[in-house]
Amino acid sequence: MRHDEYPGKDMKGTVLRLEKSSIYDGDGFRTVVFLKGCPLRCQWCSTPESQKREIESTLDGSITYGKIMTVEEVLVEVRKDSIFYFHSGGGMTLSGGEIMAQHEFVLTLLRRARFEAIDTCIETSFFTKWDIAKPIFETADTVFTDLKIFDEEKHIKYTGVSNKPILENIRNAGTLGADTKYIIRTPLIPGVNDSEEDLEKIGQFLSELPYVHHIQLLPYHRLGTDTYRKLGKEYLLKDVEVPPAEHMEWCRNVIKRYYDHVI
Ligand code: SF4
Repeated sequence: MRHDEYPGKDMKGTVLRLEKSSIYDGDGFRTVVFLKGCPLRCQWCSTPESQKREIESTLDGSITYGKIMTVEEVLVEVRKDSIFYFHSGGGMTLSGGEIMAQHEFVLTLLRRARFEAIDTCIETSFFTKWDIAKPIFETADTVFTDLKIFDEEKHIKYTGVSNKPILENIRNAGTLGADTKYIIRTPLIPGVNDSEEDLEKIGQFLSELPYVHHIQLLPYHRLGTDTYRKLGKEYLLKDVEVPPAEHMEWCRNVIKRYYDHVI
């Protein structure tokens, strides 16, 4: 096999967009590959254009979301900034939509990036079977998993799916002994998951997971509002206010009653 040939090189995936230099998606300078397709329908989702796997356009046809790319085509873009990864401790981040919805493409990308010594990071809801999540988790240097709502009924109400497989996968991650930096993220949505009871449940759950590096609380924002309008979709949480800094601090302190590493 030639050095530029490898298994899965021509495998195709649906990419939403590539972004450079993100500071929220892992350490250092990064290329973030956003994939299209997600089985969840979070009412606060700020990227409604990432939900459908199919390529789609705005109502007026002026913007098209999504592009079919091969593994190698993605890596050609990722490699362009190798020098910056080296100096900043950065690399490639795979995000969504939900990356597990294109798990074969994702695993192939991660394996090749690792082979080329590119640092790998993933952002996932973990809503998938463990058989699918396990090899992907093990091939990433850093993993961010969302823990949106602990209560199952509430989770179904606001995201459209049960959180049972998510909680199970988070627990299973601790059985791997993998050398992965594991971070949990909770988007703080006022009136949805920011009550004392909601936060205490998350804190209690985390207190049983010593392999989790820390939890990040992310304040709700309305950055996707315009995209909902352009796609002709209804934004159900459009009237929710962005939580003030003092409330974010209160939420962190509630979790800290049970679990110290809160950012
Ligand atoms: S998991 Fe992420 S991409 Fe999917 S609907 Fe929820 S917020 Fe949007």
